[in-house]
Amino acid sequence: MDYALVTGGSRGIGAAICKRLSAQGLSIIINYRSNEQAARAVADDIEAAGGVAELLPFDVSSEEAVDAAVERWETEHPDDRITVLVNNAGIREDNLLIFMQTDQWKRVIDTTLDGFFFVTRRVLKGMLTKRYGRIINVTSLSGLKGLPGQANYSAAKAALIGATKALAQEVAPRKVTVNAVAPGFIRSDMTKDLDEENLKKLVPAGRFGEADEVAALVAFLASEDSAYITGQTISINGGLYT
Ligand code: NAP
Repeated sequence: MDYALVTGGSRGIGAAICKRLSAQGLSIIINYRSNEQAARAVADDIEAAGGVAELLPFDVSSEEAVDAAVERWETEHPDDRITVLVNNAGIREDNLLIFMQTDQWKRVIDTTLDGFFFVTRRVLKGMLTKRYGRIINVTSLSGLKGLPGQANYSAAKAALIGATKALAQEVAPRKVTVNAVAPGFIRSDMTKDLDEENLKKLVPAGRFGEADEVAALVAFLASEDSAYITGQTISINGGLYT
């Protein structure tokens, strides 16, 4: 069977991506860090709709945890392969740079950037051997434009765009594509503390986006139809930044 591994698949955008990719015929590996209840609820929804879903908890920022979890999965699935990887796990720890603590800087960089590196390096092996793969990195408008209070997050997300472009060129001959999506304001746990009523006035579309709208874009990039798109960052932000 062909599997999609979605990091941070237990909530928000990642959960919507898991459900979309399942509807597209892929079996789903739902990664998360700690919220097993939420991950189980996503798996239950997928199974109720006739799909296949498994939980694979690990901290994407731990090299050892990533390698051990993927190794275990591969041993338990000798006849299956991971054809789609969505690097979606991410955290926000906003602060003005002058007040930012070293651990706030490091936690955000470690989760987004080290997480991308550890998971992608481990999963890429199988894609290169099988000569097929789709890697989609969830970056952010913050990584394109820079947002005040988010120097850590903007730096991590901008670096992810650079890595997307570099890796895309490395693996294109093996029919592996690597793209990024850059959401603006999307309704999720990550944005629930924001002043949606006021911020939505800044968005030309006049509203926050939905996780399922990001999932639809990711699902296209994960499909065979997107074979000639690689190294791109596609914004999904209601016109907020063009
Ligand atoms: P969310 O609702 O806060 O969910 C975050 C997910 O990431 C959860 O499943 C969480 O797992 C997981 N996670 C966090 N740290 C992890 C780690 N070290 N290892 C494994 N999993 C980890 O966030 P979201 O809004 O859906 O955001 C998803 C992605 O979209 C993030 O990369 C975010 O930066 C990006 N993004 C979001 C927006 C937005 O407006 N929401 C805009 C632009 C970009 P647990 O459930 O176990 O905690």
